[in-house]
Amino acid sequence: MSEFQTFIGGIFDTNAYLVKAPAGEILFDAPTGTLGWLEQQNLTPHLLLITHGHIDHIDDAAKIKKRFGCQVGCHADSVPLISNPDFFKQFGFFLEPEPVQPDFLISEGKSQDFLSSIFDVLLVPGHCPGSLCFFSPEQNFLVGGDVLFAGSIGRTDLPGGNHSELIENLFSKVLVLPDGTRVLPGHGPVTTIGEEKRHNPFLR
Ligand SMILES: [Zn+2]
Ligand SMILES: [Zn+2]
Repeated sequence: MSEFQTFIGGIFDTNAYLVKAPAGEILFDAPTGTLGWLEQQNLTPHLLLITHGHIDHIDDAAKIKKRFGCQVGCHADSVPLISNPDFFKQFGFFLEPEPVQPDFLISEGKSQDFLSSIFDVLLVPGHCPGSLCFFSPEQNFLVGGDVLFAGSIGRTDLPGGNHSELIENLFSKVLVLPDGTRVLPGHGPVTTIGEEKRHNPFLR
């Protein structure tokens, strides 16, 4: 049995990950279509963790919360993005995700317990405010959101983005993880920290 399952949804091909924890299933992000995938596969998330508040990662969050009654957690800086229906309209995005209210807020810090799975939570702003990465030392992976991709990094031209902030945070918090750490990004294939340190052209 694999320790996580991936769903790719929405017009930006956004990844959702369903990760097995001792006390249930943790869903990371909720792109368009995630609810349908979960229902079709007979999967039940017990917790929804949001890496960051961009629409393509939260489009199905409110529906999933309603359907499964799962708790939703995100960083405080993501709240304005996910709870205000007009937030994205002011920037010309035509998508209108149903706003979702988090049940609890997540801060940066080591050894945080989510359904009895332990994650080090990293705050990695630069792609957008409140962007979180979840590192499982035990399972040797990082759910990274949109900060680091195979051969690329997150865009910084959206509201609250800042290129040098992103680079600085990647070097100080993400690239210091063990080389063998698998990175489960918000878009595209799984990679590793070592692979990106060696070959990612944005990190030179
Ligand atoms: Zn994003
Ligand atoms: Zn994204």
